[in-house]
Amino acid sequence: MKDKKFKLIRSRLLLPLDEKIGLETRIEDGYVLIEGSLVREAGRYTDEIGKRIIRDCGSELEVIGASGVPASEKEIPCLDGVVLPGFVKAHGHDHESPIIGVAKDEPLTEWLDHAVNVFTGFLNENREDLEKRFGVSANTLTYSKAKLDDIYYGITTALTHHCNFNKYHLAELVEANARAGTKIIIAIGGQDRNYDPRILDTVEAAVKRMDDCAAEFSGRDRTWIIPGPDQVFSNSAQMIQALKEWADANGTLFHMHSSEEPNTTAWFYSEYLTSPVEYLHRVRALDENTILAHQVNNTPVDLAVLQATGTNIVHNPLANTILGSGMPPVIEMLEKGIPVAVSTDGSGSADSQNMLAAARLASQYQKAFHQNARLLPAQQVLEMVTTVPAKMLRLNTGSLAPGRDADLILVDLARPNLTPTRGDNVVENLIWASDGSEVRWVVGNGKVLKDDYRFLSLDEEKIKGDIQRLSELLIEYRRTSKEIKATGARKE
Ligand SMILES: [Zn+2]
Repeated sequence: MKDKKFKLIRSRLLLPLDEKIGLETRIEDGYVLIEGSLVREAGRYTDEIGKRIIRDCGSELEVIGASGVPASEKEIPCLDGVVLPGFVKAHGHDHESPIIGVAKDEPLTEWLDHAVNVFTGFLNENREDLEKRFGVSANTLTYSKAKLDDIYYGITTALTHHCNFNKYHLAELVEANARAGTKIIIAIGGQDRNYDPRILDTVEAAVKRMDDCAAEFSGRDRTWIIPGPDQVFSNSAQMIQALKEWADANGTLFHMHSSEEPNTTAWFYSEYLTSPVEYLHRVRALDENTILAHQVNNTPVDLAVLQATGTNIVHNPLANTILGSGMPPVIEMLEKGIPVAVSTDGSGSADSQNMLAAARLASQYQKAFHQNARLLPAQQVLEMVTTVPAKMLRLNTGSLAPGRDADLILVDLARPNLTPTRGDNVVENLIWASDGSEVRWVVGNGKVLKDDYRFLSLDEEKIKGDIQRLSELLIEYRRTSKEIKATGARKE
């Protein structure tokens, strides 16, 4: 079916998350009119508005949740759901879904060696065999599954930290995102020390990779390219400096993991006689264009440096708790005006891409830790997965206002766990009662990507079948593969 120029969605509740009308505005019987890839109107629906839209848009109007062009406003259904902006995932990795549940109950560096590095080694050693078996590269399978997960949970924009062997497989990720219809910022990973020796770079090679990838992929199919050296411990001062200079020269963001778990951070201190944050500051890598993932362990000096430099933080509570890394001082960061977004991290460490679960855990943990129920209310953590990361990533998304990208989701309110939902408790129910699976419609850049729970841009059954088989082959390989002990503090 030809994509229509105008799309209309009308729902029982609408959360525009628009600063102009107030981020907390909750609209009953709301609508969003989309023109092309942008929001044209959003607000409270009336029959008059319905009549006008039908008159103005004519046969170019598609009404979401209805069949055919409506003859009158009576044919515009009010869907039993809440429409809100698509989630913006500010830190994740798109190759990890086959390692969900692998090397669990292990801390970060052991998990990296026993799950992530084994998996990337498996893909590399069996590249040709796997490609023959599946008809596409195994990397393509993992990236397609990541996009399926994103759309399943209502994520329309992702910053993918493309680490390890993935840095050699940009084309497949760009292609997977293009097919899915989502938006992506790809932070190209790199290492030149304390890591699996098969993937160590020189500074020249890393900078050349940035030049080549930006020339080939920047601006294509809702794709942006930025430097993303993997970890502070796995990159020398020269490497970090060179890549940050590349980011500044090209006007891009800069992304890194930092201070993720206490042992690695303590080991870093003993090895380099400074904290990761001070180290980054010394090489002038911290400013308002830098986004650090995690930042769990902080000295008072670290927090002051983050505040003074305007550095952004992405908090990943699912991964931080599962890996036993601890949790960052989110409340202190927010009090200092440090921007904090909430994200999931990769599927392997977070075990899902459920952004609402991440938002819930972020809130729940801080309330319990500080013994203060007033901290991080539902509205605030909802903003931390929509408007805050959109601003951090400098993208025209995260709100439903005229001129914004038409990235939206409808969460089904007919589910038992979300009943009763009214205007006064809808945000609270999204955070506290949703299980993440109620995302019934997803629109990305004006295109319907999920229609009444059905994936339109991706072949759900094929992707699931391929990933299941790939994960089984990985587990066979893992039984006999040599143990890797190459990461950070575990380096031999
Ligand atoms: Zn990560």
